Amino acid sequence: MEDLDPFDIALKQLKKAASVINLDKQALEILSSPKEILEVSIPVKMDSGETKVFKGFRVHYNNARGPMKGGIRYYEKETLSEVKALSAWMTWKTALLDLPYGGAKGGIVCDPKKMSRGELERLSRGYIDAIANFIGPDIDIPAPDVYTTPQIMAWMMDEYEKIVRHSAPGVITGKPLEIGGSLGRGDATAKGGMYVLREAAKSIGLDLSKARVAVQGFGNAGQFAVKFVKEMFGSKVVAVSDSMGGIYSEDGIDFQELLEYKEKTGKVEGFKNCKTITNEELLELNVDVLIPAAIENQLTGANADKVKAKIILELANGPTTPEADEIFFKKGVLLMPDFLSNAGGVTVSYFEWVQNITGDYWTEEEVYKKLDAKMTKAAQDVLATYKKYNVDPRTAAYTIAVKRVADAMKLRGIY
Ligand code: GLU
Repeated sequence: MEDLDPFDIALKQLKKAASVINLDKQALEILSSPKEILEVSIPVKMDSGETKVFKGFRVHYNNARGPMKGGIRYYEKETLSEVKALSAWMTWKTALLDLPYGGAKGGIVCDPKKMSRGELERLSRGYIDAIANFIGPDIDIPAPDVYTTPQIMAWMMDEYEKIVRHSAPGVITGKPLEIGGSLGRGDATAKGGMYVLREAAKSIGLDLSKARVAVQGFGNAGQFAVKFVKEMFGSKVVAVSDSMGGIYSEDGIDFQELLEYKEKTGKVEGFKNCKTITNEELLELNVDVLIPAAIENQLTGANADKVKAKIILELANGPTTPEADEIFFKKGVLLMPDFLSNAGGVTVSYFEWVQNITGDYWTEEEVYKKLDAKMTKAAQDVLATYKKYNVDPRTAAYTIAVKRVADAMKLRGIY
């Protein structure tokens, strides 16, 4: 059986890249564990009057290139191994995009779908009370991730400011616009992914205006991916799914109507003129572009051979296992790895932080222009490097990122 432990996977990926660039042994050793881990217990008064204790994590992976950065997820099946892996991936992501940051990640074991607004607010404030000494605008800057929202970021910033007793909008990104958020942050992950898709399609001569696309996941990244592939390239989205199941229509699925349907019913299944499919079936459809935009370990040694897409654009973190990576590389499927494809989110988070610190706010047009430049440069670097080393694009992206982090550590005299 393939090992699906997220941190084991992250280490396997790192080791593969380290051997391609002959990375110094000591650098590899340092980069094989997080710098520090904080585990907290958060007591929350529930609406019933009972107090429930939630487990939370914040992991600092590496800060050689700058303050650490990464989202917080609220997830029922959250584990420390997953948060560690995600914090490592944030380290490679910020390095690959050449943002002056390190990597971190946070998570709370909870099911936000079963919690009231008040319970969520108390949990979010409780988490910040517990980790306040571990974060800060120059230390570690959290942001949204799976099932966390701008509203949650607003409560968190407010709680942090109460503790430090001064304004500190740069402590967290992904905030609502009214309190220091950036234009373009809401749809930045998918938008950034589109610039990567454009470069990938160019490199294999795929005409995106005729492409058929399947999107797994209808959260922040997936929703906007459905919208933008049509809007920006004229591609046809033939399949979409969420955690409850998927839908398929040969005629294409309309974003706006589907969004309204999902808001009304809480799911995509049952949408008009569509066939019901499973999440597994969606991955194996005969499409040109497959966009996994949900969670980890979706493409594995068990199903990679059945994938028919020419390009895989990973908007989720960690959707593909190492075995699947090898299969895709052998089959000639061009996989644009997560820490490149979904880096638009953290890139606009960085823009938000810069705007908070300078007090100078940009137009949406400026944000997208700067995002396009950053994403295009990183995508072109990865496409050139994978050809140079004849390795899969994920390993190529790792070689670039790891070298940057290792160089920073060397200059600081850490090894
Ligand atoms: N959670 C997002 C990610 O995985 C965004 C992180 C951020 O904006 O700091 O990249």
